[in-house]
Amino acid sequence: MFVYQAAPNALAGKVILVTGAGDGIGKAAAKTYAAFGATVILLGKTTKKLEAVYDEIVAAGHPEPAIVPLDLKGATAKHYKDMAATITAEFGKLDGVLHNAGILGVLSPFEHIDLETWNDIMQVNLTSAMLLSQALIPVLKKAPHASIVFTSSGVGRQGRAYWGPYAVSKFATEGLMQLMADEYEGSVIRVNAINPGATRTKMRNRAYPGEDQLSLPTADSIMPVYLYLMSDDSLSVNGQSLDAQQK
Ligand code: NDP
Repeated sequence: MFVYQAAPNALAGKVILVTGAGDGIGKAAAKTYAAFGATVILLGKTTKKLEAVYDEIVAAGHPEPAIVPLDLKGATAKHYKDMAATITAEFGKLDGVLHNAGILGVLSPFEHIDLETWNDIMQVNLTSAMLLSQALIPVLKKAPHASIVFTSSGVGRQGRAYWGPYAVSKFATEGLMQLMADEYEGSVIRVNAINPGATRTKMRNRAYPGEDQLSLPTADSIMPVYLYLMSDDSLSVNGQSLDAQQK
């Protein structure tokens, strides 16, 4: 596991947006960021799930989060621009974005990949993160230091049979991270990625239905690297793709 221990108030005063915050790794990250003092903007598809995370954070006595229900599949550049305007009006700055939402699609032989599934996966896993980042750059620049974190995967670094569009979307995510990191080098914005590694979530279970889920680390247990990249302890880190379960 990536080793990092954050100070109790490491994220105090920071505003951090998490996509896919209603379930799995995104839910764990939102709760962790709030526990370390951040005001979290919970973005996701299913409002009920976001409300449940909101309730947990408030009940724990952490800063009150905001909820943004949004389906990244259908969202347009205008949705993201409007959201950025609301964040600017409400908070005045944004210190971090965790691009975590993702879909697996269907694992299938290359010859069976259909264009609709391909396009949906690219839209949710890649294009939405690009458009959201683009819209948020001005409000991120208002923070003293801002961290953009993308979510990669082992199949985003080494191709694997049958992982089709999901794998390609993660390769492209690594590329987007690298070019943005290079472009914003020297500015207040740093850009990195995390490969969570096999983690006990619904997505993992869909990819490996025969696997013993209890043998996998929980989303909560892989949080050190998620905290590290949002805290000021990682100010000099830019253009890196880190492994949450680094040996
Ligand atoms: P889950 O399926 O458990 O959670 C995915 C989250 O993304 C959910 O909150 C979901 O919302 C949200 N989401 C999906 N589609 C949309 C959409 N169209 N609009 C808005 N939100 C959406 O997955 P994980 O937590 O396992 O995965 C999180 C990230 O980690 C993904 O990027 C995944 O590719 C990556 N990853 C995961 C690994 C693992 O082993 N778990 C390994 C490597 C990478 P809702 O529930 O409302 O649909």
